[in-house]
Amino acid sequence: MKESGKKEIWFVAGSQHLYGEEAIKQVGRNAKEIADTLDNSSAIPLQVIFKCVGTTSEEIRSICLEANNAPECAGLIIWCHTFSPAKMWIGGLSALKKPFVHLHTQFHRDLPWSEIDMDYMNLHQAAHGDREFGFMCTRMRLERKVVVGHWQDGDVQERLGWWARAASGWHALQSAKICRIGDNMREVSVTEGDKVAAEARFGYSVNGFGVGDLVEYVNGSSAKEVGELCARYEEEYDVVPELRKGGARHASLQDGARIELGLRAFLNDRDAAGFTTTFEDLHGLKQLPGLAVQRLMRDGYGFGAEGDWKTAALLYTMKVMGEGLTGGTSFMEDYTYHLHPKGHKVLGAHMLEICESIAAGKPKLEIHPLGIGGKEDPVRLVFDVNSGSAVNATVVDLGNRFRLVVNEVEVVDADEALPKLPVARAVWKPKPDFKTSAASWIYAGGSHHPIFSKVLTSEVLEDFAAMAGIEMVLINEQTTVSEIRKELRFGEVYYHAAKGFSFAG
Ligand code: MN
Repeated sequence: MKESGKKEIWFVAGSQHLYGEEAIKQVGRNAKEIADTLDNSSAIPLQVIFKCVGTTSEEIRSICLEANNAPECAGLIIWCHTFSPAKMWIGGLSALKKPFVHLHTQFHRDLPWSEIDMDYMNLHQAAHGDREFGFMCTRMRLERKVVVGHWQDGDVQERLGWWARAASGWHALQSAKICRIGDNMREVSVTEGDKVAAEARFGYSVNGFGVGDLVEYVNGSSAKEVGELCARYEEEYDVVPELRKGGARHASLQDGARIELGLRAFLNDRDAAGFTTTFEDLHGLKQLPGLAVQRLMRDGYGFGAEGDWKTAALLYTMKVMGEGLTGGTSFMEDYTYHLHPKGHKVLGAHMLEICESIAAGKPKLEIHPLGIGGKEDPVRLVFDVNSGSAVNATVVDLGNRFRLVVNEVEVVDADEALPKLPVARAVWKPKPDFKTSAASWIYAGGSHHPIFSKVLTSEVLEDFAAMAGIEMVLINEQTTVSEIRKELRFGEVYYHAAKGFSFAG
């Protein structure tokens, strides 16, 4: 399920032959030093490898084609150390299929005021070399991130780090397989969409499976495997006594373990990155998968409930983007509200399936009835989420294109304990305020199934949207409803016409 092999970011410097061979060698040495520093930066999760100094159309086209064909290359950092006439970039950038970031930096941080001469000026002229390169990118209507500042600056490395995380998620998505077990929850609209358009746009594929295919796996697990997994549950969680070995309802925990073993094996055999379930199609399963889904999300699988495959794909991508960071990312649902005049809040949860990566402390493993689905009581992890900043994100299919909607939120403590609520939950205050957030989200057509992340920022999602060439509507501290409504109208025109603006038509 996890991506195999390591991912690399390639560092390419632009120059030209006007200044002599020694200048190009110096550009190469300096570019390598920058690439090595970025490679060692803790802010950048992928390897950064210096590749070449591009000085001709042929060299540049060659490295771009090489990047396209290199499975390990997730993207490129491009920087023009000297002036680099940008017509030489047309062929390469036209062919380039990998994301790139334009790093607008300079080798030396400070001007050598008393020493500076024309040799220095000619060598260190990213100030206009990068503007020439930037013009060509804009002339070609290429989506890219522009990061500005000295390469040793922590902020610059952080900006590049978020971009690298977006590139890593994008890279993973290109070959991701989503298993849709059962179809959609009947009559629901936002979880539907065009799977062909999604594969063409994002790279991932979605294919359907009958729940019977899964049931065979669930029934195939051995008593020994089930026993071992139940023992592991008792180590990892605070298991209620009735579910423990010897407890009155231990058989339900064993059923839950069987579902996890079966689902894991099913997904593993299909090399899947994510999956969906639906409570309306559970033939042959004793319980709606709850605990199993929670644990699979923790391990990096994407998930969407009720057949929501776009959400499963987005969760998988965001899991990859957040690899190695402390915190968590989960499937979520805006469930119910606290509309007190002194502070409106959202209580987020789902019937069962919230990822334990966002849990505050050790989750409790409990069993409770589930009023829908018509099956036996499902086992599930119950927990709260610590306060702090988070984002909610969703992708919707508007019929002619996809839109990413993102809302920055602040997780807060519940006003009181929630002793009767039998599911994992988070309470948050959306930015800029509840009314503006909810109205904006609704105008944007955002779904009720966001991906909730305590580790990612809206910046990485913006970088991701640029890579995918999709619209992103950001709801944050600066948002007003009237501006969002205008933005949505402008976006409707722009994304309809954007193909006509592209350089090559
Ligand atoms: Mn739901």
